[in-house]
Amino acid sequence: PSPLVAVSDLKVQIGTDDGLVRAVDGVTFDVPRGRTLCIVGESGSGKSVTGRALMNLLPPSGRIAAGSILYAGRDGQAVDVTRLDPRGRQIRSLRGKEISLISQEPMAALSPVHTIGQQLVPVIRRHLNLSKKAAQARAVEMLGRVGIPRPAERLNNYPFEFSGGMRQRVCIALALSCRPRLLIADEPTTALDVTTQANIIDLLQELQREDGLSILFITHDLGVVAEIADDVAVMYLGRIVERGTVDEIFADPRHPYTRALLKSVPRLGSGRGSRLAAIRGMVPSPFERPQGCDFHPRCEAAIKGVCDTIDPGTITIGPRRGVRCILAREPAALGGAAHG
Ligand code: SF4
Ligand code: MG
Repeated sequence: PSPLVAVSDLKVQIGTDDGLVRAVDGVTFDVPRGRTLCIVGESGSGKSVTGRALMNLLPPSGRIAAGSILYAGRDGQAVDVTRLDPRGRQIRSLRGKEISLISQEPMAALSPVHTIGQQLVPVIRRHLNLSKKAAQARAVEMLGRVGIPRPAERLNNYPFEFSGGMRQRVCIALALSCRPRLLIADEPTTALDVTTQANIIDLLQELQREDGLSILFITHDLGVVAEIADDVAVMYLGRIVERGTVDEIFADPRHPYTRALLKSVPRLGSGRGSRLAAIRGMVPSPFERPQGCDFHPRCEAAIKGVCDTIDPGTITIGPRRGVRCILAREPAALGGAAHG
């Protein structure tokens, strides 16, 4: 399928008290129509910043420094999101209507002092240009679709009157009520118990099948990746170190970092809540990117005199596969997949 969004050599800088951080440092990927790309990485890898950049929704201290984000509009015209004024009319019409975000903490997306209906109905009216009555009907329909019982009554409830899982469903209803074409889901299930997580993932997949929604799913949880991804991009220090289809990544990981992540997942497939275990060494400070390969200080396969000197760049080894490692072409060198 043709990409809905194509990101090319994207760089994002964030100003901090200690100086400028290159939070995203040259990432290239796309999200095909009707498919799910998972961005995986430890905290601080730049995955959330990447997701927010797609909506040009960065913190005030952040800016897109280079690259392009081509979004294929409904009219067939491509829009470069990086060229739009972050506060301008054009990007605001994309956010919510075309591209929606759900995040880890549903409370942050909802106003505590307004009922669900007071929040859902105006958004639907504005984006879909409906009468109040029609927008109300659409709100009830959406709440029903995301599995909230007695949706017409629940419209009058405040966010605190819902459980965590139900609140996340409300956020999904809010995010999808305007029929976006791209959903950016940033750790949407991390705060939820395992059963609720599974329900939310099933729900997203169902909505995707029905509406052809494209999903960018950001997570550190490889169990979730195995469930939901079509394609996977593994991020480390603001760069994609490996990308490929979910089968390629799980069956034949080529980057030592990906292999370490997979090894650290106990009983893959059984534990949706399993987390990345620690990989030896620390994630380097974003101010001190290592010489040579970014991963060499922690890499068990590092070659002295080579990996600490030469940045391997991204080596393309398949139609949708790229690996930032000099060993990218050697499937057996490190023992292949360690799970199963
Ligand atoms: Fe490890 Fe060298 Fe590959 Fe970097 S280039 S991931 S240090 S083997
Ligand atoms: Mg994050």
